[in-house]
Amino acid sequence: MARARKSSATHIPELDHRANSELARRAQRVTFIYVPLSIIVSLVTDLHQNYPRETYGFIGLFLLMGLIRARLTRNFETNHDSSPTLWMRKFSLYTLIPAVALGSIAPLVFFSQGPGWDFIICILSLTGVSAGATSSLSARKNIFHAFQALLLIPTVIVLVFFGEGKTQGLTLLLVLWLGQIVILGHYFHKEFWSGLNAQYQLKLRATALENANTKVEQANRTKGDFLANMSHEIRTPLNGIIGMTDLVLESDLNEQQKDYLNDVKSSGETLLTIINEILDFSKIEAGAIELESIPFSVDQMLQKVVRPLRYSAENRADELIVELDPELPQNLMGDPHRIWQILTNLAGNAVKFTENGKITIGAEHLGNTNGRCTLMLRVSDTGIGIPEEAQSTIFKEFSQADGSTTRKFGGTGLGLAISQKLVTLMDGEITLSSTEGQGSTFAILLHLDIAADEATPAKKLQAKSSSHNLSGLRVLLAEDNTVNAKLASRLLEKSGVVVEWAHDGKEAVEA
Ligand code: ADP
Repeated sequence: MARARKSSATHIPELDHRANSELARRAQRVTFIYVPLSIIVSLVTDLHQNYPRETYGFIGLFLLMGLIRARLTRNFETNHDSSPTLWMRKFSLYTLIPAVALGSIAPLVFFSQGPGWDFIICILSLTGVSAGATSSLSARKNIFHAFQALLLIPTVIVLVFFGEGKTQGLTLLLVLWLGQIVILGHYFHKEFWSGLNAQYQLKLRATALENANTKVEQANRTKGDFLANMSHEIRTPLNGIIGMTDLVLESDLNEQQKDYLNDVKSSGETLLTIINEILDFSKIEAGAIELESIPFSVDQMLQKVVRPLRYSAENRADELIVELDPELPQNLMGDPHRIWQILTNLAGNAVKFTENGKITIGAEHLGNTNGRCTLMLRVSDTGIGIPEEAQSTIFKEFSQADGSTTRKFGGTGLGLAISQKLVTLMDGEITLSSTEGQGSTFAILLHLDIAADEATPAKKLQAKSSSHNLSGLRVLLAEDNTVNAKLASRLLEKSGVVVEWAHDGKEAVEA
């Protein structure tokens, strides 16, 4: 309430506009009400006989005021917005003139006919009008007060000064009525402004929230861009470290040196995995990932997932099995690299969290609808499983089943978040079922188009690369990073390629 009073007093233009608009809306409904009212009153009483000219004058006046108010309130926006103060003045004037006219009827009847039935009918009509105005004018205190005063006070004055006997009781009733109406009007006024203010505050908060949201989104994008750029900057030298370590490992080294360098390489690779995951995650978050739709063979892709895992699976005494549904179409359309990435993450986890157990990577054909194949990819293991309370959160970024996971097994907690986001981008679904101590199964449901039965790019690539001998080829290498340029030159030279190095794009074009 305190706020409502404050708002109406401080005149926030938007609230003033809405209060006036409400005033106009309510007035519109009763614009012509005084015309039938005055006709009825003049017919019921002897007013039209005693004062015919005045009676028709009143009816005419009410009609005219009604017409003017109708014009004023109907095109509210145009009338009001060009000059709100002028609109308010006009509205007040054309509302208060009828009040003056109405307020003078009862005194007129009193003086012409005395305080009989006709006079009482007039007073009843006045109280009716006064009650109606409590609702229609309560948005604006000044008009409300002026209207009630002009309507009722002339009759009260007449009764006080000229009434006698029983009419004094009428005076008291009328004064009580006036007091009651003023209290009621104040209450409606407060309620109205409190509602208006609450709406306004809500709107302000919604706008503030929207602005804050825009800022957060902007900050998020900036963070994403920063991460993407930083990750790229970090990856370049890291590739150099890993590659150069590989080259040194091929040279003559004693066992201890080899051991140290293998540690350098493995730490570098772990760091690269983490950076790649962060880069991927920020790219997905920024909506910067575009999925491919090219033909690929599920069979070949599964082999590509399993091959690099065989060594670590053997080390952990795990059995690694691939189950391929023979009903699966030869080639499907999709993004084989991203599907490989998802399966590699799931299968990598399965190996990481299973010892002396079994890991099954399978692809099942669930049917075809409208030329699309429903494919279920599954990665199951008989490892440590995931506690029930952690199952709902492990798909969230940076979350792991328990606090000791990183210490014991490493990892960032990003793999599953990335996998889930990628599956969602493919309009697929990823689900998990797991029992602690018994193992876990991750299932991915995808709907992929069936490709025309032709050689997949992987097959073509294999055929091409195996038929080419690179020895003696001249290659222009454009690379601004010295270490990576050295590394690439060395690797190419190992295949017999003659390398010419351009330090940047300009040199490359000139060369
Ligand atoms: P990371 O493996 O890098 O920690 P992930 O998002 O891939 O991140 O996995 C999140 C967590 O989910 C893991 O740390 C582990 O606690 C749990 N988890 C995932 N896969 C398995 C699994 N096959 N068996 C047991 N726990 C798993």
